[in-house]
Amino acid sequence: MKSILVSVLCLAFVVHANGQARIKPATEPVLDRFLRYVKIDTQSQEDQTTVPSTRKQLNLANLLAKELTSLNAQNVRVSEVGIVYATVPGNLADNSKVPVVGFISHMDTSPAVSGENVHPIIHKNYQGGDIVLPKDPSQVITVAKNPILKELIGDDIITADGTTLLGSDDKSGVAEIMTMIDTLNQNPQIKHGTIAIAFTPDEEVGGGIEKFDIRGFGAKVAYTVDGETLGEISNETWSARTATVTFQGKSTHPGSAKGIMINAMYALADYLGRFPHDMLPETTEGRVGFVHPYAGVLDVETSSVKILLRDFDMSGLNAKEKMLRDMVAQTQARFPEVKIAIDVKEDYKNMKEVLKDFPELTDNAIEAAKRAGLKPSIRPIRGGTDGSDLTFRGLPTPDLFTGGANFHGKLEFNSRRGLEKTTETLINLVQIFVEKSQ
Ligand SMILES: [Zn+2]
Repeated sequence: MKSILVSVLCLAFVVHANGQARIKPATEPVLDRFLRYVKIDTQSQEDQTTVPSTRKQLNLANLLAKELTSLNAQNVRVSEVGIVYATVPGNLADNSKVPVVGFISHMDTSPAVSGENVHPIIHKNYQGGDIVLPKDPSQVITVAKNPILKELIGDDIITADGTTLLGSDDKSGVAEIMTMIDTLNQNPQIKHGTIAIAFTPDEEVGGGIEKFDIRGFGAKVAYTVDGETLGEISNETWSARTATVTFQGKSTHPGSAKGIMINAMYALADYLGRFPHDMLPETTEGRVGFVHPYAGVLDVETSSVKILLRDFDMSGLNAKEKMLRDMVAQTQARFPEVKIAIDVKEDYKNMKEVLKDFPELTDNAIEAAKRAGLKPSIRPIRGGTDGSDLTFRGLPTPDLFTGGANFHGKLEFNSRRGLEKTTETLINLVQIFVEKSQ
């Protein structure tokens, strides 16, 4: 907490120059808060018609609403779809001079692995080596696959017991935001503008964010706190499309099919054979995009395949679409009797297209992480986020780290330092918005 003190003292010196009280800790340490939240089962479920997809998410939503109220947040409400909204009023002489900054994290955990009866385990003063999860010794967090462990020597690492996920994604974000509010509530001398808070359901299954009330939320800019490694800030997501290629043949009784049957499956096989091997999810990483045939139907009469197209650059995405269309033409030339059609639809766009006009969002986050003693870096997300949806709907929303790792699986973990340093970064961030507005 030393660097918070330093940054607050600096701010006090620069802005107020009138002396500064010491920082009082939050009423509940972020680790304790985190351990409480992960024990509440909030697993969401695919293919539901209602939002939230599971009623149990409301247990955490209602608890957070109660706790926000006790931390003196204002206008606390749980919407009809289970989104928790709240406002932390600014404490400046003129709050209108500082943009309202929003912080968002999601309450649900992945449908991939059970979130029921989570028993968090604290591996105190980690001294290196692989971590075997006690209830299922086949679940091992290895240094080989998690080199980040080497940076966590001496830290307290939190895991599940091997039978469930931990729920660090995204109860880390929830606990960190709540602890920021708790700390600000304890320390009125820390100057900040108005802060908007939202905790959302159903992030993991999509659907929660569509009902997000941007106007009611009231923020001008926002951050999702839903990333991973300490210091990693993301202002880029994929630009994404999905293609469906349909192969129309002709079916008939195979006993009398000579000269009549046109088997669409061979055309589909030919098409799949044309995919370049160096442009697939299993052969790419970092900033390199891919094409990914992920589902299909094999049938004599009508065969089809669905393909994901992903790239950080529009030009790269367009090139991939052109390649898929050229491949259709090549297969068509080889199978003139099969009717081949390709249909491409837009999924989402790289939020950088909008965020490039709001460089201060990334700059302020970098500065906040530095003041917490972290080495900030920009990491493009090989996926989409709730923030990309909000960004294109008018609320610019990059993503901040949470300290967590191995999301959506039994090997998920975070650490005491991960939780504390993220919280410290958030507290720094709201102050930096004040400084930049002077
Ligand atoms: Zn998440």
